[in-house]
Amino acid sequence: MTAGLMQTPPLQIIDILKFAAKAHARREIVSRLVDEPSFRYTYAGALKRAAQAANALKRLGVQAGDRVSSLAWNTHRHFELFYAVPGIGAVLHTANPRLFDEQIVYTINHAESSVLLFDRNFLAVVERITPQLTTVKSFVMLSDEARLLPGTVGAVGYDCLLDRESDKIDWPVVEENAGAFLCYTSGTTGDPKGVLYSQRAVVLHAMASGLASAFGFDAFDVVMPCSSLYHATAWGLPFAAPINGCKLVFPCDKMDGSSLQELIEREGVTFSGGVPTIWTMYLSYLEKAGQTPGKLQRVVIGGSAVPRAMAETFKKQYGVRVLQIWGMTETCPLGVIATPTPELAEAGEEAMDEAIWTRQGRLQFGIELKIVDEDGADLPWDGEASGALLVRGPWTIQRYFRKDEDAADGSGWFDTGDIATIDAAGFMRITDRKKDVIKSGGEWISSIDLENIAAGCLGVKIAAVIGVPHPKWEERPVLVVECHEGETLNEDQVQAYLEPRIVKWWKPDKVIFASVPLTATGKIDKKVLRGRYSGVLGG
Ligand code: ADP
Repeated sequence: MTAGLMQTPPLQIIDILKFAAKAHARREIVSRLVDEPSFRYTYAGALKRAAQAANALKRLGVQAGDRVSSLAWNTHRHFELFYAVPGIGAVLHTANPRLFDEQIVYTINHAESSVLLFDRNFLAVVERITPQLTTVKSFVMLSDEARLLPGTVGAVGYDCLLDRESDKIDWPVVEENAGAFLCYTSGTTGDPKGVLYSQRAVVLHAMASGLASAFGFDAFDVVMPCSSLYHATAWGLPFAAPINGCKLVFPCDKMDGSSLQELIEREGVTFSGGVPTIWTMYLSYLEKAGQTPGKLQRVVIGGSAVPRAMAETFKKQYGVRVLQIWGMTETCPLGVIATPTPELAEAGEEAMDEAIWTRQGRLQFGIELKIVDEDGADLPWDGEASGALLVRGPWTIQRYFRKDEDAADGSGWFDTGDIATIDAAGFMRITDRKKDVIKSGGEWISSIDLENIAAGCLGVKIAAVIGVPHPKWEERPVLVVECHEGETLNEDQVQAYLEPRIVKWWKPDKVIFASVPLTATGKIDKKVLRGRYSGVLGG
């Protein structure tokens, strides 16, 4: 080998904020807070507060390699921790407040965190779970001094801690493969599993996700992450935005349509991202209130399949482009993203929209894809053959935290648990999660496709399809519909809508009207639905 003769500084997360504080010093960060007035500062200001937070954490005894947990919303304080904690070589475990208490406890204990930083409206949860926490020594409330509620845990106030510290620090050189974020999958099966992002993975992911072929960021963008900071680092937006000099807007826990609309208008938001349920609420608000989404240009949606009707409404009614992404906690999370190509554009706008709206996205540099059959043999990229989706690359998991065995195989391929097709242009389409696919008489029915079609029926807020045991066909689809508030539908109306749009044998054997349970990461909770309705077809 002839060694390359270029420099090899480690890729470090803190360098992103240091860069933004120089190159985009005056670009703003605006944050809503639980019950304080909105907070507004700049990247230069954020770097200073991140330094104060890092000094404060050190004073609490946090050292490189230690874990620190947050239980927090999308705010500027949580953003500061995204830099302060990895900045001193420690690991930020972003606990998911939507998990059950036992699971929150499990993740904090499993992480062995010494400090828990939480937003004020989580005090009750923290007080409840504290007796079971085995490693936490310090509790910090993400609060100003005036509103601090120490509670039975004797929490100290985050702003008070920062006020005592210098806004200067010699950020240490941290090895680029050191752990930086610990994100747990929501554990719909078994205990949550920890995915430990390295500094390097986060930086590379952030560089790639801002590209024109992905989120397409520039310094004029105003980015509002509605994906939670505690869920796969809000899809890396807190890193991709400063790299590109975008203004950042944090909505805290106020994700209802009216609150989002107010922020979008007031702050000139051009780009946002979140799971489909948030956008269902937002679109329904816009329609009711007769408003338009200000300067919003692009919305990236993922976590669950984007209903075609949602992408169409955004574009045709409001001129907003939907970018669907597919990813998972195990991929930091960006896997593929649906952006246009010249080949698709040749076919005209409508055909291009159709192609983009019905696929999860296309191959991105940095994450390889393949689909395989049951024997592990490669399947062709013809848009028809479907098989288990495997991924690999520098921001894909190798091994879960504190597990002895690798999650990826010897060549780095990680089985995502999803079933997909890939076409010749590299566009990937998820047909189902392995465990959700409906096996009817030896054939497979895609629950995602059926849901997507049913979601287009007027009045439907959420459509969920599950495979229910059937005496003759093994399983048959049952559709559970949650209607928009104040709207009612009956089974005949829904079946009449589906009939011309699906092949006959996909027709749900039953349509049930009920509220649809969601998981801690905003996905339809099919485990609960299966438990509830497993007997309805007599199977
Ligand atoms: P959880 O902890 O809920 O599993 P993840 O975000 O890791 O959270 O979930 C990843 C899974 O979400 C993927 O494996 C896939 O099944 C599903 N998913 C993500 N994005 C999409 C999408 N655009 N379309 C369909 N499914 C998606």
